[in-house]
Formats: sequence, C-alpha cells, structure tokens
Amino acid sequence: MQTIARLDPLRSALAALRADGKVALVPTMGALHQGHLTLVREANRLAAHVVVSIFVNPRQFGAGEDLDAYPRQLEADCALLRKEGVSLVWAPEPAAMYPAGYSTNISVSGVSEGLCGGDRPGHFDGVATVVCKLFNQVMPDLALFGEKDWQQLAVIRRMARDLDLTRPAAREIIGVPTVREADGLAMSSRNAYLSADQRARAAALPQAMREAIAAIESGAPVAPSLDLLKAALIEAGFASIDYAELRDAENLATLTQIGAHSARLLVAARIGSARLIDNMAVGGRED
Ligand code: AMP
Repeated sequence: MQTIARLDPLRSALAALRADGKVALVPTMGALHQGHLTLVREANRLAAHVVVSIFVNPRQFGAGEDLDAYPRQLEADCALLRKEGVSLVWAPEPAAMYPAGYSTNISVSGVSEGLCGGDRPGHFDGVATVVCKLFNQVMPDLALFGEKDWQQLAVIRRMARDLDLTRPAAREIIGVPTVREADGLAMSSRNAYLSADQRARAAALPQAMREAIAAIESGAPVAPSLDLLKAALIEAGFASIDYAELRDAENLATLTQIGAHSARLLVAARIGSARLIDNMAVGGRED
C-alpha cells in the first residue's frame, strides 16, 4: 500500500494501477471506523484497486465549527487500510489541495439547500469542490459514499450529472447503507466527541426515528410525529434539534405525507459538543 501526499507521484502511481483494472475511490476525512471500512470492502468487491483519500477538508467547515478538533490519526488509519488490501492512500496537505491563489468554488443549488445546507452555510460548496477535485485527481472508474450523509450523496450525484463528470459517471457513484453500532447509533468519527453518558443517550436518536417512522407508516400525520420525535430527543438529553424532516429521497423536496414517492426521514441534533446526523427510509426500503 502506497501513501502519497503530492499530486505528481499520485498520477504516476495511478497510471500503474489503472493498467491493471478498475480503480475505485473512497473519499474520507480519516478517523476511520467500520462504516468507512464497509465502503472500502464494497469498493474492493467492485474494482481491482481501491484508492482511499484522507483529507480533512477545511472548505467544508464553517467558522466556529470543529475543524481544529476533528480527529486526525493518519498512521492508525493507514494500518487499518493496509489490512483491507487498499492499494493507495491519497493524503494531501491542505496547501497541496488549495495552493496560494486558489479561487474556484463549486456550488450545487436545489439539493444543497435546507437540512445541513441550511444549518451549515457553504458546507456543500466545500464538499462539492473537494469531491470534484478528488475525481479529477484520481479519475476513478467508480466512487463510493455512505448513505449516512444522504444529502451529500444527492449533491455529489447532481454535480456529476451537471458537470458531465465522466470518471466516475453519475451512475458509478455508489451509495452504501449506513453502518450502525449495536444500539442503532450510526457510526461517525464525531461520536468520539461524546462522553460515556452522552454516548448512551445518543442511541435515542435512531430509536426516536424508528418510532416516528412506524407512526407515519401506520397513518399518523407527519408534522405531529416529527414534533414527538423532537420532544423525545430533548427528553433523552439532546440539547437541540437542527432539523427533523420528511423529504423526497431523490430530489429532497419537502413532503407532508408519504405517497407514491420514496421518502426519507432526515435528522440533525446536538448533544454535548457533537452534532449528529442520521436518516432512514420511510414507507419502503430498509437501510
Ligand atoms: P467522512 O470521513 O465522515 O467524511 O466519511 C467518509 C465517507 O464514509 C462518506 O461517504 C460517509 O458517508 C461514509 N460514512 C461515514 N459514516 C458512515 C457509516 N456509519 N456508514 C456508512 N458510511 C459511512
């Protein structure tokens, strides 16, 4: 497994990998857990070589967010990835990604608006910009992203279609279902911010979501079901709820009832210094 931090050696190494078969990219910010490793395993199943990028992207963090506190553990991450048979880790420094004078931004309207885009202005511009750069740098045949970040996946698919990104084409952007802890909490690098007590309380998030989904699926009106969900989270010890919304799973339009569309419940809530997000299918496919 090669670990590379500069663009020229990356391009030479990729030429050799590409000669050998399909290349899959798994973009990450590091502090890897089983959720990330599930993406890597799926990538390994679909391609001859897996490239994992590890880059804590400053452009997707707003002022006052956790850029400095975000866990960084490159050596431990590389040890995990070596065991998974990853071919290459692309771990650029911020100055290599955004050299002096860097001035281009990619902004995806529509699916970026509301939800995390509403609470974190500029976040999805940062995500779209870095992912577009990663696609251009690595030119993978396919790229894998977690459904854990449902809105992010929608933004990246939209960008790939809109900008005619051919490698990977939009259809080769693959979503992988959320990997959860035994008590249902979605795995996240940010779970490390939780104290033992907060971590125990955080399990209320998926539990309250499942209860709201069961109610909505059995005919309860949406708005009061979401109000009950929010109240349950506050009762469990969450400090605040950024959003709890029912959306069309594909275009993220707001839904006030389930019907012909595939629907998704998306929630962001704060506990201690962590902002946790989760989403689940409503009225259809399980994740
Ligand atoms: P991050 O390092 O948080 O930027 O995540 C890198 C990739 O891993 C993104 O595509 C995430 O959606 C995905 N991911 C993060 N947590 C999980 C999880 N619990 N299950 C599945 N994928 C995940």
